Amino acid sequence: PRLANQIAAGEVVERPSSVVKELVENAIDAGSSRIEIELESGGSRLIQVRDNGSGIEHDDLGLALSRHATSKITSLDDLEGVASLGFRGEALAATSAVSRLELYSNTSDDPVNGWRVVAEGREMAPRLSPAPHPRGTTVTVRDLFFNTPARRKFLRTEKTEFNHVEEAFRRLALSRQDVDLVLRHNQKTVHQLMGGNSQAAMEKRIAQLLGRSFLENAIHIDMAATGLALKGWVGLPSHTRSQADQQYFFVNGRVIRDRLVAHAVRQAYRDVLFHGRHPVFVLYLDLDAHGVDVNVHPTKHEVRFRDGRLVHDFLFSSLHRALAEVRP
Ligand code: ADP
Ligand code: MG
Repeated sequence: PRLANQIAAGEVVERPSSVVKELVENAIDAGSSRIEIELESGGSRLIQVRDNGSGIEHDDLGLALSRHATSKITSLDDLEGVASLGFRGEALAATSAVSRLELYSNTSDDPVNGWRVVAEGREMAPRLSPAPHPRGTTVTVRDLFFNTPARRKFLRTEKTEFNHVEEAFRRLALSRQDVDLVLRHNQKTVHQLMGGNSQAAMEKRIAQLLGRSFLENAIHIDMAATGLALKGWVGLPSHTRSQADQQYFFVNGRVIRDRLVAHAVRQAYRDVLFHGRHPVFVLYLDLDAHGVDVNVHPTKHEVRFRDGRLVHDFLFSSLHRALAEVRP
């Protein structure tokens, strides 16, 4: 099973940013309102994610680290309309197969009831021992790929790896504005974001993550059609190269890259003629969970819409109308 996990890890755990993404998604799925991420050396030495969510029951702790153990779906039918970010039960098993993983968790409000689990690379069974921890979970991943040198070789410089982590952080932070999020790197606080549900709170978060200029040139949109809602900000395409990649599209809270979506966006921008500039946007599309299939790819960036035509036309017409207003 270790080998199978190490192979599976190749799909799920590509670099530190993929570990951060999976751990933070788990924290979000656990209903956390505050998540703190701590990294050392771009994440290759240390990745720690601490949350104040539901915690993991003692009897489920060993299982949580084994492959295909997920508490989030119980049958294949649940895959239709899956609402949680995780559902494959692979991330913790895969990560523990290629790192020194330590997990603390507590489901009660009394810190003394906590438990610690360690799993280290090749070691067979995770070991449990009592350990104090406040309600919630802390996962510590040290020495990523220490036992898979070929993969460790593919890690880039500390700065590059941290840039990937920061991008994953931006996506997560934009996807859940209600959650407090902290990102620290080598003892320094890089981002500290307070959760809030108002539009003002969201604009503050966007400014912190993407820079003030993003909002100065963007308009807020809020459109709805039967079964579909589109909210967010569409910006005047920027001239600056650094902003070229400020394109965030979320479907039911999940960041996605989708050809149909990309096409609708491109068409809308093309129609209002912003020559040679890059569209920038933060957009949230919400629809019934049964109208979209997220079970397409392990990293879950792809989706399949039940009625692609409808989604495409709704996106195009909504964006087209909004962009016509900001046209210079
Ligand atoms: P998945 O998220 O696909 O279910 P994971 O390997 O990421 O699989 O996690 C395995 C299980 O461990 C989850 O289904 C969940 O029950 C539990 N778990 C992992 N992280 C947390 C967390 N931070 N808080 C509560 N439960 C967690
Ligand atoms: Mg998960």
